[in-house]
Amino acid sequence: MFKEYDVIVVGAGHAGCEAAAAAANLGSSVLLVTMNMETIAQMSCNPAMGGVAKGQIVREIDAMGGYSGIIADKTTLQFRMLNKSKGPAMWSPRAQNDRKRFAEEWRLALERTPNVDFWQEMVGSLIIKNNTVVGVKTALGVEIMGKAVVLTNGTFLNGIIHIGEKKFGGGRTGEKSATGLTEQLTELGFEAGRMKTGTPPRVDGRSLNYSLMEEQWGDENPGRFSYTNVERPTDQRCCWITYTNANVHETLKEGFEKSPMFTGRIKGLGPRYCPSIEDKINRFAERERHQIFVEPEGWNTCEIYVNGFSTSLPEDVQYKALTQIPGFENAKMFRPGYAIEYDYFPPTQLGLTLETKLISNLFFAGQINGTTGYEEAASQGFIAGINAHQKVKDQHELIMKRSESYIGVLIDDLVTKGTEEPYRMFTSRAEHRLLLRQDNADIRLSPIAHKLGLINDERLAIVNKKVENSDAIVEFTRKQGVEMAEVNELLETLGTATLNQNVKLFNVLSRPQVGIEDIRKVNKPFDELLNNFDQETVEQAEIKIKYESYFEKENEIVNKMQKMEDKSINPEFDYNKLLSLSKEAREKLLKIKPRTLGQASRISGVSPSDISVLMVHITK
Ligand code: FAD
Repeated sequence: MFKEYDVIVVGAGHAGCEAAAAAANLGSSVLLVTMNMETIAQMSCNPAMGGVAKGQIVREIDAMGGYSGIIADKTTLQFRMLNKSKGPAMWSPRAQNDRKRFAEEWRLALERTPNVDFWQEMVGSLIIKNNTVVGVKTALGVEIMGKAVVLTNGTFLNGIIHIGEKKFGGGRTGEKSATGLTEQLTELGFEAGRMKTGTPPRVDGRSLNYSLMEEQWGDENPGRFSYTNVERPTDQRCCWITYTNANVHETLKEGFEKSPMFTGRIKGLGPRYCPSIEDKINRFAERERHQIFVEPEGWNTCEIYVNGFSTSLPEDVQYKALTQIPGFENAKMFRPGYAIEYDYFPPTQLGLTLETKLISNLFFAGQINGTTGYEEAASQGFIAGINAHQKVKDQHELIMKRSESYIGVLIDDLVTKGTEEPYRMFTSRAEHRLLLRQDNADIRLSPIAHKLGLINDERLAIVNKKVENSDAIVEFTRKQGVEMAEVNELLETLGTATLNQNVKLFNVLSRPQVGIEDIRKVNKPFDELLNNFDQETVEQAEIKIKYESYFEKENEIVNKMQKMEDKSINPEFDYNKLLSLSKEAREKLLKIKPRTLGQASRISGVSPSDISVLMVHITK
């Protein structure tokens, strides 16, 4: 019934979809096996993409030819650039999306990708020969052969859903859990653990009183995720903000004795930074209120997502508490919130390509690796899909560096340090975040994708033009003078010191208070020059001017650290021979098998003196 595929992707969540698209776009024949084709790229929780650090990841995937940014743009309900008042390293695109349209566009995109076949069924086990995966076996007993397999099972492996004292098997509400794989993998020697996550109730938007809430509109000139000019809605929808109060908290507390979390029925650890409302009340008892974002689920539905109210308390307690929130007095509930517990595999069992160390040609990506979030999942799927293709086609592997991408930080953190609680990305996890900005993901990563064959010459030419043109603007400002009389009035209104001599434009523009748009109004030649360029190019030039010295310093640090990253270590190096290493370091190094001295230095338990020992031996 089936040919032998180059790559079989198990699961069509955010990781699986990007994995299938990447491998197929590189030229692999791909089979995407998923339990339910109606839920391809389902947003299990919040219908939103991006946010702090996550938005940067979506831009990075897009810069390399992935689809998440394009799909997010096409299905945007509302777009906001978060942290615009801070420096550009913190600017983070975030979109509220139409849940149904998002899934529909993903399915369309995959159906339009040559080389992707589909099969709807549960994969119950892997076919393994000589420690290499060679295919999958489905619940119906169908055997499908593939040269590489990417597992992206999300929250489905032995998933158990909890609502109050009720619990039942499920991978997501209304969907069955997946069985068999964890059992087989643990028999093969893999270590597995349990994690949990939760989601809020959904309500009927027609039953809410929006006049009691604060409106929250999107940006006036909305940005986008994709560097391509994909078409997207011109309109935006409003979201709202409201707050819990003491009554809501008291009502929720009535349900604590039936809470699956507080009574210990849920064993897995939940996402620290996305706690349930009961967790927030418990942990931050001093807080009188918590913010609730009231977000539409789509263009053509009245369903509302109650962001900030994730809960697994009994449904009647959820309902009673909801109706005490301002604006929710007459709320009708569509679906209760719930928590879900699922199996994951500690990611230290993977290499930096996301291939497992135990079984060749087997890759893991997404929530199965202990992460949380669509963006984290999508980026891992993308890299696993690329590496699965590269492996079966005997091409070089792709390892993303920490200094060039958030994706590199994410994967390096996972496989080097592991994670015991759901891992989500933050800007603070990236030591070089000044360089890893949402505005330059194309400059950083499109050349890599072009070399691989994931983006074409035309797309790379656009990126090169952006660099060339923004450099030309910067050079112009270094040469073009500005007269005191021209700008002093403006400088005064902007609250910055006036000039006492004529200077170059660069000099004035490097002040934080002075924007490029302000200066072009008072300097005609500059305005004429900028008229030739698009907004992104102008913005890029402004960032270069304002942060030039910071970027130079950061690049120096990267270059220094690169020396450690360039010192490669044979993954089979026998650390047992190095008796001067501490016992803990030896054990950890044998387990993680770092690829470079830099990676070794990030393993917890490997001290600077252990690194000195290693340095002597690997450079011998
Ligand atoms: P998923 O999106 O879970 O997709 C897994 C796919 O694999 C599905 O298509 C499934 O059908 C398929 N599959 C599984 N097993 C098999 C099998 N054996 N054979 C064939 N197909 C299989 N993230 C946040 O950032 N914040 C949150 O607050 C948050 N809350 C969440 C609440 C809930 C209730 C859930 C379920 C998830 C939540 N998430 C949250 C997580 C977010 O949904 C995931 O991180 C993201 O969807 C993971 O993507 P994935 O591709 O790894 O897996």
